[in-house]
Amino acid sequence: LKQQMERNESLSALGQLAASIAHEMKNGMTSIRGFTELMKLSADDTSMSYLDVIDSEMGRMESLMKEFLMLSKPTGKEQVPFPLFRSICEVVTIMEPQCMQRGITIYKDNHVNAEVTVVGNPQRMKQSLINLIKNAIEASDSGSRLMISIENYDRGHVLLAVTDEGKGMTELQLKQVFMPFFTTKRDGTGLGLPFALETAELMGGHLFIKSMPDKGSRIEMLLPSAAAEAQETPAEETSNAV
Ligand code: ADP
Ligand code: MG
Repeated sequence: LKQQMERNESLSALGQLAASIAHEMKNGMTSIRGFTELMKLSADDTSMSYLDVIDSEMGRMESLMKEFLMLSKPTGKEQVPFPLFRSICEVVTIMEPQCMQRGITIYKDNHVNAEVTVVGNPQRMKQSLINLIKNAIEASDSGSRLMISIENYDRGHVLLAVTDEGKGMTELQLKQVFMPFFTTKRDGTGLGLPFALETAELMGGHLFIKSMPDKGSRIEMLLPSAAAEAQETPAEETSNAV
């Protein structure tokens, strides 16, 4: 136990150091961005095309930093009970404009009769949901549908599912998507799914992916509901997970 505690402490010290470096870098990047904007005012066509590259690369680095900072934040301490469907409603409101822009219809559904309460960090849950919905949007064509739902799983667990009709994932991709920094996108960070998986695990749950190329994907977060916490129901092994 002592060894484990020491390991945790040094990990969090390293995390803090990394976070402060990332923070400094973010400040530097903000200033580079500002001067890039100023240079654009008097740039010729060639310089302008270079400045555009600087701009988009800086944008990529900024989102990487943002997601990294989020990952390195200490978690697990501020675990509180919160209503799951409310988080979904809030996130859907945030993401609706992006969906509309791309011609994607987003639906939400609560299949569980009672208000489901889960225990965790609500801020982190919302960020994870945003990650999953962003992935679904990025995989989907105009005209397709996207569904966020809460479903009954067993007495002590619920499923939070994000289902899309997008391009899906191959077997090979499925083996790699939980590796930090694995991405198939030009501007991807590869941190969205690892973050969501960690969120589920911190809450005593898990994340499962079911996906078929050209059919779509369904990302399931298996979460203990608050009532189950009290009974200390052991986490279930799910056999139907990909
Ligand atoms: P990023 O989105 O930055 O690439 P993620 O960790 O969020 O990083 O996702 C990793 C990879 O998993 C993506 O690059 C993509 O290949 C795949 N992926 C994730 N969600 C979906 C989805 N809903 N549909 C298809 N592919 C997905
Ligand atoms: Mg992503």
